[in-house]
Order: sequence, then C-alpha cells, then structure tokens
Amino acid sequence: MKKTTGTDRSITSRWRPATQAVRGGTWRSEHGETSEALFLTSGYTYDDAQTVADRFAGEAEGMTYSRLQNPTVAMMEERIALMEGAEACRAQASGMAAMTAALLCQLSAGDHVVGARAAFGSCRWLLDSLLPRFGIETSVVDSADNSAWEAAIRPNTKVFFFETPANPTLDVVDMQAVCDLARAHGIVTVVDNAFATSALQRPMDFGADVVAYSATKLMDGQGRVLAGAVCGSKEWIDEVLLPFQRNTGPNCAPFNAWVVLKGLETLSLRAHRQSENAVALGQAIEDRVVRAGGTMRHPGLPSHPQHALATAQMAATGPIFALDVGSRQTAFALLDALELIDLSNNIGDARSLMCHPASTTHAGMSAEGRAEMGVTEGLLRINVGLEDIADLTEDMDRALSAAGM
Ligand SMILES: *Cc1c(COP(=O)(O)O)cnc(C)c1O
Repeated sequence: MKKTTGTDRSITSRWRPATQAVRGGTWRSEHGETSEALFLTSGYTYDDAQTVADRFAGEAEGMTYSRLQNPTVAMMEERIALMEGAEACRAQASGMAAMTAALLCQLSAGDHVVGARAAFGSCRWLLDSLLPRFGIETSVVDSADNSAWEAAIRPNTKVFFFETPANPTLDVVDMQAVCDLARAHGIVTVVDNAFATSALQRPMDFGADVVAYSATKLMDGQGRVLAGAVCGSKEWIDEVLLPFQRNTGPNCAPFNAWVVLKGLETLSLRAHRQSENAVALGQAIEDRVVRAGGTMRHPGLPSHPQHALATAQMAATGPIFALDVGSRQTAFALLDALELIDLSNNIGDARSLMCHPASTTHAGMSAEGRAEMGVTEGLLRINVGLEDIADLTEDMDRALSAAGM
C-alpha cells in the first residue's frame, strides 16, 4: 500500500482537529482511492520466508494476521489517536470490550480500583462482579466529590476509573483535580469518554493516562455498528494493552472500523449540533417539568450543580440529558406518548432516542445500587439528535401533557 501523509505523524500532528478528523490515518493503496479501503481479510501473504520471519520478529513493518493488525482497523486507530491527542490507540470489538481490556490488561489479584458510583450499568458490573472474582478489590465513590476520591485511596490502589458526564445521571468529574491526585499516588486514570468524545473533551489534556471508548455511540453516530477503542501512551499500549489484546482477541471487525472512520469525519459537527439541540430542548421544557414537580439534569443547563465545571472542561456539553418525572408510571406514560422521538436505549445517534434506565440500561443492578447512584424510578434519559428542534419540542410537550406533567 502507498503511504500518504495521513500516516506521517510529523505532518498529521500539526494539523488542526477538523483536518485530522477527515484525513488522519488515511492510508491509500496503489489505486489511490479517495475513501478509505475496506480490507476484509483475516490473513496476509508474503513474498519470501525471510520477510515473514522478520515481521514475526518485529524487525520488519507489515501485517501478519488480523487479530494483530488490519489496514482498515489501523486507519481507524490512527485517526482516533490523533483526535484524542494520544500517542497510540487500539480498536476493540465494542465499548465493553474496550473497558474490560483497559482494566484487565493492567490489574492483578491484590490490586485495588476506585470507580465512579454513577456509571454505565455494564461498567458497574465489571467493578461489582467481574474484578472481585479475580481477587481485585474495588470501591465506588461519589465521582463529583474530589475528597471522596482521595479518601478511597489505599496502598494497593492501581487504577481510577470513571466516565464524565456519567450515564445516565450526568454527574461531572473534575478531571484536572482527579487526574492530578491519581498521578501524585502513581495511580493510572482510565476515563470512559463515550458520552463526550474528543470532539467535546480530551481527558488527556487534563492528565488522564488512558481513554477508553464505546465507538458505537457518537463516533459511529448513526446507530449502525458496535465498536470500541483504547488510547494511551505508546509504551502503555505496546507493553500493557497489546499482550492482553493480541492473546485474548477482543478485536474490532474491519467493516465496523470502516463505518466508524466514516463517522469520525462528521463527529465534531454532529457532537456540537446535538449538544446545542440538547440545551435548546432542555431549556424549552425545564420550567414546565420543574413546575410539575420534576427535575432536569444536563451539564449545559445552569440548574446543573456542576454547570461551571462542565462548561470549563468541555467544548460543548453533549447530546444527552435526563429528567426525573417522579414515578415509573409517569415515565412510561410519557414514553408511550412520543410520536417522533424513538423509544430506544442507544445514545449518540443522529436520531433522538429516549429510554427508562431503571428498566433497561441499569435493570441488571440491585434497586439499592440504582438508588445510590441516582437512577430513580422516574428517571428518563434522552439522546437528542439532529432533527429540527421545533419538532422535538412539540413531541416532548405532547408527551409531557399525556403523562400529566
Ligand atoms: C454504551 C456505553 C458503553 C458500552 O459500549 P458498547 O459499545 O455498547 O459495548 C460503555 N460506557 C458508556 C458510557 C456507554 O454509554
């Protein structure tokens, strides 16, 4: 394949983010295709035996097997790394494959992890159920409370793990303070950046060591494929993540990587417009929801307790907000009255989608666990899409009326 400037870091690292999103990582074949090629291949052939021996010895560049490298996947990895400001990135089969790999690759029996209490349901399952089975201690804290992170540190604490804003409570972590604290104690910070993406916040700019992704969400952005990614320093990716990944195989399929590459080209436009739409829709209904006894949660609304922090560390506050309408019955009545907004538990899609976390994304947790993290019976989460804001507001107003709000 012909290497183009898209793979030359001495050039691409000078590009501004919009250019990196469209051209970063592009690696053209001899046909000179404009759109990235899709390499649906598991294996590779070699011209002679010495070449293959050199590649396996790590002494020559080149592909050997798609669990180890694939050209389409490599383009996605390079583009995500550039956009994140990371030295290296490895694609994963899904967001949960990424979170599992980012944690298990570096933890051993006897280590301790501190995680954010408010988190995606499966991320909490890793902390509450999976890691303890292998002798890894875990504790969870109120992630908005900087002193709680400090108080949770033990001599064997190896990793801090959090998402910000959190799914679905929209709690915000003070990234600079928490990453500084981790660094002072030799703790590795792993940030799940699925809700915001590099278009809206870059955790490494605040001192995070590892950024892990569900690329299924805003990166694809059109609800098509599952994919994930883990970003870090070149040394950490090569020496800590890769031995785990190459031998356990949570790889991203080339087709999925290709779809994500196409999504990355428009990520910033979508993330900013969807954030604007989320704030506009939130503002349009907030008074009415509050008057009816409900509450709104979006870091872009002044009513959010961490509004100032969120707007300081984010370029825009993201497409997702939550509202608490008081009871499951009211929440279900509202969902059932929607005409335009889909009843769906996905996020990051260009379509507006709404769900009831307590009976869907967080149904696997105990009722006490949900209550502790703020996932109440009346909580609804909405991913605001790219539709006309007037149509979205009309649909929400109609559904709120039907639910008696
Ligand atoms: C969806 C999501 C995940 C899991 O990603 P999948 O691609 O569905 O495996 C992890 N973390 C957060 C914050 C998410 O929203």
